[in-house]
Amino acid sequence: MLDACFLGPYGENDQLLERLMVEFLRDHVHWRRNFHPEDPPAIPTRAAQHPAYQAFEARMRRELHQLSAALKRSVPFHSPRYIGHMVSDLLLPGLAAQMLTLPYNPNNVSEDAAPVTLQLEMQVGLQLARMLGWPDDPQRADCAFGHLTSGGTLANYQALRLALALKAFPVALRAADVPELALPEDDWQAFNLAPAEGIALFQAWQQWLAAQPSGQRQHWRAQVECRRIEHLGMAEFFQRHTQLRPPTVLAPITAHYSWSKGLKMLGLGRAQLQLLPTRGMRLDADALTAAIDTCQRQRQPVLLAVAVLGTTEYGTIDPVDAVVAARADAAQRGLGFSIHVDAAWGGYLTTLFRNPDGSLRPLADMRREYRQFPQPEVHAAFAALAQVDSVTIDPHKLGYLPYGAGAFVCRDHRAIPLLAEQADYVFHGDDSAGGNGANGRNSDANNAAQYHARYRQLGQFIPEGSKSGAMAAAVHVSHRVLPLDHHNFGLISRHTVLAAEAFIAGAAAFARQMAGSAHVLVPFQPDSNLVCLALNRHGNRDIARANAFVRRLQEQLRSDQSQPLQVKQFFASTTTVQRALAGTDDMGRILAGLGLDPATLGQDEGSDRLLILRHTLMNPYLIDRENGISYIQRYFAYLATLITALTSAPVRTAGHHQLEFPPR
Ligand SMILES: *Cc1c(COP(=O)(O)O)cnc(C)c1O
Repeated sequence: MLDACFLGPYGENDQLLERLMVEFLRDHVHWRRNFHPEDPPAIPTRAAQHPAYQAFEARMRRELHQLSAALKRSVPFHSPRYIGHMVSDLLLPGLAAQMLTLPYNPNNVSEDAAPVTLQLEMQVGLQLARMLGWPDDPQRADCAFGHLTSGGTLANYQALRLALALKAFPVALRAADVPELALPEDDWQAFNLAPAEGIALFQAWQQWLAAQPSGQRQHWRAQVECRRIEHLGMAEFFQRHTQLRPPTVLAPITAHYSWSKGLKMLGLGRAQLQLLPTRGMRLDADALTAAIDTCQRQRQPVLLAVAVLGTTEYGTIDPVDAVVAARADAAQRGLGFSIHVDAAWGGYLTTLFRNPDGSLRPLADMRREYRQFPQPEVHAAFAALAQVDSVTIDPHKLGYLPYGAGAFVCRDHRAIPLLAEQADYVFHGDDSAGGNGANGRNSDANNAAQYHARYRQLGQFIPEGSKSGAMAAAVHVSHRVLPLDHHNFGLISRHTVLAAEAFIAGAAAFARQMAGSAHVLVPFQPDSNLVCLALNRHGNRDIARANAFVRRLQEQLRSDQSQPLQVKQFFASTTTVQRALAGTDDMGRILAGLGLDPATLGQDEGSDRLLILRHTLMNPYLIDRENGISYIQRYFAYLATLITALTSAPVRTAGHHQLEFPPR
């Protein structure tokens, strides 16, 4: 089956893609012609003979040829020699669906502009929800909801917006002094409800509002709207509510920099982002508990706790289960907050943990298929996804789809109307579906009708406005062809984990081979398909020199516009390890393993962190069974030649530092 999934490193499936493209381009043209076949062609049939037409065509061809030629300098993401960043070959079903849809140009901002693809986007949200173990039937009142974004950055931002809206809304309800509703006693309580309580209160408010005569309804809606944080802005809101302070976001120090961006965009400021230490590059659960305790003691509200499922730099998996437990404990003590899992990278690995019927695979079943994966902690983290509030997943990473596809999914869609740009959420759209509980009609069919009616105006709820419907088509078709369980999409994910395990075994053999010329170390137990490699020349104790050594390797392993592409043997990326990230113990262990002197850490500029190689093992052809080639073995063989070339020069004394490592 995998043979048909991708265009292939050699373009093996070119015929398949070409047939699909021609077939559906013709299909599109037929559609145009059949719209009103009685309309005569607007472009004259003789137009192509006109010199101006021909000149235009010539110019267009010239530019396209130039573009096509220039693109040959692109990075060959499709190749199994590329193990650098989080990108690889593209899944044919998604690529074909996107190309097929482009000429129809649907705009998923609203159903008026995208009668077909907006429905597909909603389906994608439900497909992802099912993968995560969430309610995915819109007939259920608490069904999940998800939508696409330009990428993980905006999906994370959406998580912040939603968490803030839900947190602050009860405060506005109190300030408006809405009668008859059971409101929290004071601002502190209102601002620190558990998400489920916040949603319940929002529901109660909508039902109360719907039951009012229309004049009263308008009055009360306006009373509440003008007191919301989204209306007043942070400054005015917190000035009015002196019991409250701007809430903080708790995230591991390994979190992606989109979290810092998000806090800036939201206007909370990145000072509100509290980065917690890790152990082995996984969020330290004790540090989280301690941070929550401190928040509670200092009456510091928490907006969101973030766990990362597959860190960008190290591929490590945070203990989502521990975050869920800490949250439950805090809620008991009156400090409620939401949990978001940033699974931009690791989200699709959830397919490995799902049976086709949606149930979770037991650890023992999974362990039979791998050497190490999944560690019990990793299994527990994926199992706990069912209990978090929202998740970011990037189809343009481990979903193998073109860029421009991130996804935000939340477990209970009933909070989403809080994001509506027009606050007439009670009767706008819902009306057609028979009202929102005004007459107690909450049948299953009614729920589903409301769900679909509401998100017809998707642009109301998302950070973007106009957006690609072709992208939604691509993700939808891809998930239909490869359902998100271990029998289908999981076969691809499985390859990546097996490749990572082969890489780890290869690294151990490589370390033995290099003994005497270089120290080689996998610095962290990789939880998924991203493996780092720390290196140091034998006999060197100095961190700055170790970094210079890895930088020399990096020069050979990164894209270089000054040389023909074919000169490149392999692509890898780099990252760094710092004491602040790894913790003192881990840092000490890594330095010792490399024969480095910890005293040289931070001695001068360029030595405050350790430079290491980083490998993203997502290419499906890393182990080429057809030809009996392992690109992983070839990579290590290539690294060995590079290292031998670098180390065969005699080790120079510190005085010759500049000679050995000329500044670039
Ligand atoms: C890639 C990544 C992001 C950002 O996603 P973009 O699609 O690049 O915007 C956020 N979080 C994590 C963990 C990531 O790996």
